[in-house]
Amino acid sequence: MIRASQRAMGIEYAIRDVVLPARELEKRGINVIRLNIGDPGKFDFQPPEHMKEAYCRAIREGHNYYGPSEGLPEMRKAVVEREKRKNGVDIGVEDVRITAAVTEALQLIFGALLNPGDNILVPGPSYPPYTGLVKFYAGEPREYRTVEEEGWQPEVDDMRKLIDDRTRAIAVINPNNPTGALYEKKTLKAILDLAGEHDLPVISDEIYDLMTYEGKHVSPGSLTSDVPVIVMNGMSKVYFATGWRLGYFYYVDREDRLAQVREAIDKMARIRLCPNTPAQFAAVAGLTGPMDYLREYMARLKERRDYIYRRLNEIPGISTTKPRGAFYIFPRIEERSLWKDDRDFVLDVLNEAHVLFVHGSGFGRGGEWHFRAVFLPPVEVLEKAMESLEAFMKKKLSG
Ligand code: PLP
Repeated sequence: MIRASQRAMGIEYAIRDVVLPARELEKRGINVIRLNIGDPGKFDFQPPEHMKEAYCRAIREGHNYYGPSEGLPEMRKAVVEREKRKNGVDIGVEDVRITAAVTEALQLIFGALLNPGDNILVPGPSYPPYTGLVKFYAGEPREYRTVEEEGWQPEVDDMRKLIDDRTRAIAVINPNNPTGALYEKKTLKAILDLAGEHDLPVISDEIYDLMTYEGKHVSPGSLTSDVPVIVMNGMSKVYFATGWRLGYFYYVDREDRLAQVREAIDKMARIRLCPNTPAQFAAVAGLTGPMDYLREYMARLKERRDYIYRRLNEIPGISTTKPRGAFYIFPRIEERSLWKDDRDFVLDVLNEAHVLFVHGSGFGRGGEWHFRAVFLPPVEVLEKAMESLEAFMKKKLSG
């Protein structure tokens, strides 16, 4: 056997791992309702027409070449304007980098920050690439507590306990995957203060920034004075273009503390050549164009969020907080005597109720005895899923 690297073999991604047993059922002709993957493009959500048109036009007009590794100036300028409008941040084109979506931004940023044995603070629970990629770069992800009873707000005192001299950054995911939390301004300020005390940058994942139901998203980039903040965002969620693989990040760093990190990131960016060129033209159309499609999509999502929230709380043995952003809900399994753990529960639900969730422990600390459901499908589909889950729970609890 030709051996693979330990680094690669150690990667876990719970969201896709549960798909294998679901596929087995589907092979046997069983219809599984999949509430596991957060891809709006698989449901009734599409990038707006003006973006699709701009993508096709760019290809037809010959923009099929390698672009600059930091991204096309047109898109970087569109990001500056969008972020000025959304967050009031004063950045320049030179502060913006374009990437193959937020996933590549994470690879570049973690790769540039981490030496073996260094650590990065990430939320617990968190979107799995955070822990997975930090480990890939021989770093240690340290998961800070987020408090379910407070709508999964980060606990700043817990963050403080996790910081040591090998800590390189604090990451926040807001609105959050998998919990749907929307972080309070005072919490973000406290995180910035803590980062300032320890001379750490804050990395802010804002991919769901305009997808909120109650309250508005606040960026730490808009609150900071001297603490360096790296803000990441992209076209996958708010612009509904997951498959285009395009995103960006920018530095809010008035004192130029990140100069060396920026240089390291640019070196890494050069050896991967460049992000998708024609997609960047589509992104310019999206970032500068009308956003009315989002109002309609958010109304749809809110109806689905309200429905699943109500129904899950009606089901015996399950309870849930209300997500305030993104399109995930993270219910708690109250009845614990019947399953070994949350993974066992999710597999039992899959096999008997034919609904696919992701086990909460796949998202790390604090995810134990929870599961994540995606509420992207129409209410009729969610209704079927909730009926099945309810029947399953009633049967299990009665006997
Ligand atoms: N960050 C968070 C918090 C996410 O939930 C996701 C996808 O689900 C991503 C990043 C990945 O984004 P992208 O498609 O831009 O790589």
